[in-house]
Amino acid sequence: AKSAGRNDFRFFTPDMNNRAYARLMLENALRHALEREELELDYQPQWAMPGQRLIGVEALVRWNHPERGRISPAEFIPLAEETGLIQSIGDWVLHEACRQQAAWQAAGLPPLTIAVNISALQFRRADFAGHVRQVFADSGVSPSHFELEITESALMQPSVETEAQFASLRKLGLGLALDDFGTGYSSLSYLKRLPLTRLKIDRSFVRDLPGDPEDAAIATATLSIARDLGLEVVAEGVETEAQRDFLLERQCAVMQGYLFSRPLPATAITELLASQAHA
Ligand code: C2E
Ligand code: CA
Ligand code: CA
Ligand code: CA
Repeated sequence: AKSAGRNDFRFFTPDMNNRAYARLMLENALRHALEREELELDYQPQWAMPGQRLIGVEALVRWNHPERGRISPAEFIPLAEETGLIQSIGDWVLHEACRQQAAWQAAGLPPLTIAVNISALQFRRADFAGHVRQVFADSGVSPSHFELEITESALMQPSVETEAQFASLRKLGLGLALDDFGTGYSSLSYLKRLPLTRLKIDRSFVRDLPGDPEDAAIATATLSIARDLGLEVVAEGVETEAQRDFLLERQCAVMQGYLFSRPLPATAITELLASQAHA
C-alpha cells in the first residue's frame, strides 16, 4: 500500500518540489475563487491635505481562501497574470467597484473617486477601452468618479496601441494614474506620451522620509515635476507624522497610508463618508 501511495504522487514528488506543488494547488483554487465568490474588495482612503478630507479610495482585491484564510494580492495577482486568470479577476474587480459606487450614490453619500488597479495584461487585450466603456454603460455609473491605476514597470514601452487605449479611456472621463512612480525605467517618457491625470509616489520613496537624502530628493522632484505638468499627486504608504509633515511642506495634496487608515471593508467607508457628510 505504501508503494502504491507513493506511485499516486509520483507526478508531484520528488520531481516537483513543494513550492511548485503548492503553486499548482493555489492555481486550481484561484480558478474556482470567482464562481465561489471568495474575492472581495477593501478600500483604502485617500485624503485631501492639509484638511484631511476623504476624497477617494483605492480598491484592493482580497481572496478569502477556504483553508488558508486571506491571501495577499501580492501573492495571487502575479499568479493570475501568469495563468491568464487576471482577465476575469480584473473584470470582477471593475464590476464590483461600479456596483459599490452605485450603492454609495443611491445612499445619497458625497461623491468619492474609486481608484482601480489595472494589470498591464488587461491593457493588452484588444479594445480594452471599449470593454471598460461597456462595463460602465451596464452598471449605469459615470466613469468620472473613477480612476485607473497602472504600474509603469508592467507597461514596458508604451506602444502606439497603448497610447490609443489611454486616449480613449481619458475620453470616457476616467482618471489615469501612474502607480509606483519612479520604480520603472522609463517614467519620464510615460509622462510625455500618455494622457495621465495623476502620479502616485511609490511607498519605497516615502518609507525613509524625511531622513534619507535620496528619497527626500526623489519625493521633492516628483512633486515638482507633477506641478509643472499639471498632474495631481498621491503619496502612498504614509505611516508617520514626520513623513506626512515632510510631504505637507512640499504641498503634496493627497495622501494615503496606515497613518490615516488601513484598507477597510466597504461598510467602514460608508460610515466614514456619512460622518464626514454630517461634520
Ligand atoms: P499597490 O497598488 O501598490 O497597493 C498599495 C499596497 O500598499 C496595498 O497592499 C496596501 O494595503 C499597502 N499599503 C497601503 N498603505 C500602506 C502603508 O502605509 N504602509 C505599507 N507598508 N503598506 C501600505 P495590498 O492590498 O497587499 O496590495 C498589493 C498589491 O497588489 C497592490 O499594490 C497592487 O499592485 C496589487 N493589487 C491589489 N488589488 C489589485 C487589483 O484589483 N488588480 C490588480 N491588477 N492588482 C491589484
Ligand atoms: Ca495601486
Ligand atoms: Ca503602489
Ligand atoms: Ca538612501
